Amino acid sequence: MGNKLIVGNIKMNMRFGEISNYLNQFKNVNNKNLVICPSYIYIPYFLNYNFSVGSQNVCSFDVGYTGEISARQLSSIGVKYVMVGHSERRIKLNESDIDINNKIRASLHAKMKVILCIGETLEEFKLLKKDSVIKRQIRDSLFNVSDLSNVIIAYEPVWAIGTNKVPSIEDITSTVIYIKQLVKQMYKQDIKVIYGGSINEKNIVNLNKIDILDGFLIGGASINPNQFLEIIEKIS
Ligand code: PEP
Repeated sequence: MGNKLIVGNIKMNMRFGEISNYLNQFKNVNNKNLVICPSYIYIPYFLNYNFSVGSQNVCSFDVGYTGEISARQLSSIGVKYVMVGHSERRIKLNESDIDINNKIRASLHAKMKVILCIGETLEEFKLLKKDSVIKRQIRDSLFNVSDLSNVIIAYEPVWAIGTNKVPSIEDITSTVIYIKQLVKQMYKQDIKVIYGGSINEKNIVNLNKIDILDGFLIGGASINPNQFLEIIEKIS
């Protein structure tokens, strides 16, 4: 198995009756670099397999918010990763960089690894604002975070999510280099960067040739176990 991180974002998919069939397909998988992020309610069913489990979100605070789930609670049942700042949450739920910063600090405090999603919208891309958006998201989301060893950045151009549009290999490579250099400059630390956006079992072959990438975040294609397993096989 390779060392690339593979994150599956199942989003709000699957009814309870579909969970056991999904999980059955993963019973022979032995890869701790594979992180599957189901909805909160299904997390307990995903534990105790030979892959890691991640949460799609977390509360910014440890107590006091009815209906929320804290990093401490997630960590206490064995969740190892937390996805923070997904564009669907930033855009549709108005999640701010300050919210994201609070979520990151709560998660790191609870000893979890954070997958920080960043990326520009189509409009920002067209207005050539990609680099400045990325810079702002990194600076504000990671404000006062001193140790980045448990933070992974997921570069997900918003216009590539669920659209079957993928940036060119050259564009992904240069953006990942930009992110790594920026973090090095700002924090004097190295950071892992993964790519997400319309990955499928075909385009993964070329995407996997980008050496500088530390892994992939897969949304739609992670819902179908056969398709997801084919992608995992091609990465590993
Ligand atoms: C995502 O939502 O994080 C994602 C990468 O989705 P998709 O693979 O469907 O583009």
